[in-house]
Amino acid sequence: MSHVVIVGGGFAGVWSAAAAARVRGSGDLRITLIAPGADLVLRPRLYEPEPERATVALKRVLDPIGVDHVRAAVQDIDVDAHRITADGVDIAYDRLVLAAGSRLVRPVLPGADRLFDVDTLPAAQRLRGHLRSRDGYTAVVVGAGFAGLEVATELAGQGRVVLVEQAGEIAPDLGFGPRPAIEVALDHLAIERRLGTTVTEVKENGAVLSDGSFIPADAVIWTAGLQANPLTAQIPGDRDRLGRLIVDARLRVDGDVFAAGDVAAARADEGHWTVQSCQHAVPMGKTAGHNAVADLLGVPLVDFAPAPYVTGLDLGAAGAVYARGWDRLIALSGAEGKWVKRWIMNVIHPPLDDPATIFAHAGVITTPIPF
Ligand SMILES: Cc1cc2nc3c(=O)[nH]c(=O)nc-3n(C[C@H](O)[C@H](O)[C@H](O)COP(=O)(O)OP(=O)(O)OC[C@H]3O[C@@H](n4cnc5c(N)ncnc54)[C@H](O)[C@@H]3O)c2cc1C
Repeated sequence: MSHVVIVGGGFAGVWSAAAAARVRGSGDLRITLIAPGADLVLRPRLYEPEPERATVALKRVLDPIGVDHVRAAVQDIDVDAHRITADGVDIAYDRLVLAAGSRLVRPVLPGADRLFDVDTLPAAQRLRGHLRSRDGYTAVVVGAGFAGLEVATELAGQGRVVLVEQAGEIAPDLGFGPRPAIEVALDHLAIERRLGTTVTEVKENGAVLSDGSFIPADAVIWTAGLQANPLTAQIPGDRDRLGRLIVDARLRVDGDVFAAGDVAAARADEGHWTVQSCQHAVPMGKTAGHNAVADLLGVPLVDFAPAPYVTGLDLGAAGAVYARGWDRLIALSGAEGKWVKRWIMNVIHPPLDDPATIFAHAGVITTPIPF
């Protein structure tokens, strides 16, 4: 029996599995998802006060659609032999979908082991546990990009927050569009900014900055620098500066290997590559899963065609900004922006338990955000 193996149980892996199972129908084909955890972790919600709520049991999606879950981590991929090794077990595949996500690159600096982050569920829980036991706190958040801004504005409700950014401006990767509204929100929340500097040492009681100053702090939280999973290095092919495999319009890397989500860079539209985000990981997963099975069954493959790009950035008690397009021109801000951000955070939950609903969602590769 032919075997499709999906590596990763995040947004891309789960939707690959659903789309693969949908196109398989009642065909004679085995689909296995390999991921170490029992849950899909909703990473975009890990900055929230109760990060443990940001999970979905994988079995509630995979069991109803007949996808096996092997709870293991993949160490080796041999594309010539069509085999992978997961925790010492050798697994053969006919088509492989790599969807192993990304990880925060922690800096090498004195005291780095004292850094907190919100990249994984255990890390987010560690931060929350640490701050919960304090009566007011000072938090230094390093990086004023997407994750850094969401963490800083969320934490500002209960303590003093200092945002440290190496660039000379906040939100350097988000462009000019949303910046004025973000600045207003940071002012409103009394978040201090230290621009053009970074943290060079983490002491037990605070952070040393590259300008020589010291900020006494209860927690120093690193948010800068996501890289594709290092498994990408085992797949022959071109990579971008984030370590992502360059894939074609069908999300094929080469031969019998497809890639989706944060491990892959695909053309989102003319002139733009995908962004490491759920809004791209979900349709990439559906496209790659469909194509991996379609390729085996000899049915038509589909091209990756994401919905128009949007940005929804939570700003804590200051609301949120919701922007459309690659220039991120603000469509909604404040309470209205927050409403849309919450809508997005809800809609990224996959349907559970009911195969018909899961397949119905898997069959719609692109869902434009109706705002
Ligand atoms: C704090 C934060 C805020 C974010 N906010 C937003 C946002 O507002 N909007 C947005 O669109 N995106 C946001 N993102 C980005 C978004 O979370 C990612 O782009 C998305 O999770 C990518 O999905 P993925 O399936 O590719 O990877 P992941 O969600 O990273 O999933 C990877 C999966 O692979 C598994 N895996 C890893 N290594 C192995 C291995 N060796 N063997 C087997 N399995 C393995 C993992 O266990 C996991 O199941 C945010 C991310 C963070 C960290």
